[in-house]
Amino acid sequence: MTDTLAPHPAPERVPDTPELHIGALPSAPEADTTRLLDLASALRGEAPRVLGFPGNLAFDFSDLGPTLSILTNNVGDPASTDASGIHTKPYEQAVVRFLAEMAGAHPDDTYGYVTTGGTEGILFGLATARRHLPHATVYTSDQAHYSVARAAKLLGQQVVTLPSNRDGTLDPDSLRVTAFLHRRLRPHAGRGPGAIVVATIGTTMRGAYDDVTALRTAASAAGEVYIHADAASGGPIAAHAPSRPRWNFQHGSDSISISGHKIIGSPVPCGVVLTRKDLVDEPVIASEYTMASARTLGCSRSGLAPLLLWSALRRMGHAGLGAHITRCLETAQYAADQLTRAGVHPMRTTDSLTVTFDRPADWIIRKWHLAIQGHTAHLVTVGHVTRSAIDELCRDLRIP
Ligand SMILES: *Cc1c(COP(=O)(O)O)cnc(C)c1O
Repeated sequence: MTDTLAPHPAPERVPDTPELHIGALPSAPEADTTRLLDLASALRGEAPRVLGFPGNLAFDFSDLGPTLSILTNNVGDPASTDASGIHTKPYEQAVVRFLAEMAGAHPDDTYGYVTTGGTEGILFGLATARRHLPHATVYTSDQAHYSVARAAKLLGQQVVTLPSNRDGTLDPDSLRVTAFLHRRLRPHAGRGPGAIVVATIGTTMRGAYDDVTALRTAASAAGEVYIHADAASGGPIAAHAPSRPRWNFQHGSDSISISGHKIIGSPVPCGVVLTRKDLVDEPVIASEYTMASARTLGCSRSGLAPLLLWSALRRMGHAGLGAHITRCLETAQYAADQLTRAGVHPMRTTDSLTVTFDRPADWIIRKWHLAIQGHTAHLVTVGHVTRSAIDELCRDLRIP
């Protein structure tokens, strides 16, 4: 899908709000609390019309309010004690274990932690990959998230962007040809430079799943292969999709990143990164001050995010999450059917929650918070997206 807006224009500015300025003197907390509660209720009121983005907004963690009255800081590794001892690491371990199981790994063979989001997971995955394959190029598709190129650049890795198929998946044949060429150019004593592939599990515009197994085979033309699965939005969906996309550790991924605030749903951005345990160093205490081992990118890490993820996942279990995904997939099919009737040419790739359709009028884009690329709009049927919202969108689309 080409981006007709490139190069991108400057964004509109969020206006400065003088009455929010923090001045020299204290401000009355009651009035400010009222203001914040009004903000929360206004944003909640808007949530049912947020159709274009992958964050599930159907959650309520207000019963966990008292956890906001204590600093919980998961310093260093989830399995390591630390000097402060004020942490939620047992909950974090439970979240990592659950998602490792979901990703086809044995929890005992997996290292992972709760991150600040999908982006940190990509950075962690690429840093791990670089340690093992320092000469390898990073291959990814033109549908990959911009965080992939950004992380590779930070790490000084060369990136090659490959074309995607019509359905939005990375084309294994173009990977094979390019990887083979790189091996010819840089033989590295016959072993080849190796290949690091970032597979996208749920692309931003189409929700397509790259085929990890096929990409692994294709990339081996360059020598040894490391695959990071960027499963920020699609990992939990792929894990329960009827077509069984090949995305997980058993299918050939070496590390996987998942966002917590997308299909799972969380009031703060967060995520989880998982990797094969044999790819990370043995734990050693990083400093006398913290007394914790830290293979994490951050030292201080949120203790709240693991509680939120644990609470969300624990009330579902594997079966409940599967049932939730099934409902979301059914809503996506419902949306595709209704949008067909509305005459806006929807497209939906296999087992995707994302449905693209003809770009509508600007007032509809604004009202329904639709995501746009060129002449195409899309919606994502995550948890809070109801059939009645889709019906109302379709009524709006019929207005001449
Ligand atoms: C959302 C997303 C990211 C970025 O993850 P954050 O949690 O926003 O940091 C990366 N890749 C894909 C495919 C995504 O959908």
